[in-house]
Amino acid sequence: MPTVTIKDITDYLESLAPLSYQEDYDNSGLLTGNALCPVNGILVTLDCTEEVVEEAILQKCNLIVAHHPIVFRGLKKLTGQTYVERTLIKAIKNDIAIYAIHTNLDNIYTGVNHKIAERIGLKNSKILKPRIDTLMKLVTFIPKEKVGEVMDAMHKAGAGNIGHYKNCSFQVAGEGAFTPTDSAQPFIGQHHQAERVEEVRAEVIFPKHLSSAIIKSLKLAHPYEEVAYYLSLLENENQEVGAGMIGALESEMEPKAFLERLKKAMNSPCIRFTRPIDRKIKKVAVCGGAGSFLLSTAIAKGADVFVSSDFKYHEFFDAEKKIMIADIGHYESEQFTKDLLFDVLKDKFTTFAIIFSKTSTNPLSYL
Ligand SMILES: [Zn+2]
Repeated sequence: MPTVTIKDITDYLESLAPLSYQEDYDNSGLLTGNALCPVNGILVTLDCTEEVVEEAILQKCNLIVAHHPIVFRGLKKLTGQTYVERTLIKAIKNDIAIYAIHTNLDNIYTGVNHKIAERIGLKNSKILKPRIDTLMKLVTFIPKEKVGEVMDAMHKAGAGNIGHYKNCSFQVAGEGAFTPTDSAQPFIGQHHQAERVEEVRAEVIFPKHLSSAIIKSLKLAHPYEEVAYYLSLLENENQEVGAGMIGALESEMEPKAFLERLKKAMNSPCIRFTRPIDRKIKKVAVCGGAGSFLLSTAIAKGADVFVSSDFKYHEFFDAEKKIMIADIGHYESEQFTKDLLFDVLKDKFTTFAIIFSKTSTNPLSYL
């Protein structure tokens, strides 16, 4: 049985939620540990605390996969004065790696918000605020007889996936012109002789983080010594990546009935909400964790309610009469992220234990 390293796990998680999708302020990724170490077991948790590290030691897990990064704002000392420092010291002393998958998991379609939408029972869910900085386009010119080979190689590297469609491209036939110089080793043509070749101009779209792999595959498969291509960053919205989610209930509900359903679905002991709007609830926007930055988008997209957490007193006023805010608690909104990570890892890796942390890391109690 081949050994699975920490890097194998993090590469897999990053193929689903690339680190480049995290917000600027975030610190997702491997926080402690050697990526090349073999994995004995994985403990999945929402937060990494000292108790969680102790649980990992007891369960013989040398990798903790957490949603929130224990190192967030940076560290200047490591003396054990704070819970953050103590957690890290304990992890390092016991050879336990800590990996955080935070806003990159919030920002993918199948991430934190999809899980919430699923629990509430939303249909036709879409990203609430799609990102506009994640897609690229590549245009290249391929001699006619090599088009299939080159396109296959780029598709294999991840080019041309649009929504539910794969292997997408646009191709148009034309003529390429060039003259090989003395130092050239041309695939077609002679030195100092102007050539005109039947070529196909092919265009593909892909997520930015795959660009080096796609260019590498293009150059390997393309027969020319010098491969001509244009690369451009698109301003198109990426429907697969971004913050929050919006969907619809199967049928409209009275605001009070919706809140009761929400409380049950999200295991929330307490919901803070703005006065119900005078219409029924059908369109629901959600954002796991602190989501007040998405309130105006939720209103603009016509949501009847915005389910999120960490609203401050004055931010509740911004609902006006346009939307109902339902603040279900930060931990409560993200607690099922543990299930999401557990399921994703369990489906892929089977040669060691993947354990669901039993430590409740919610720092809050309710009276
Ligand atoms: Zn959070």
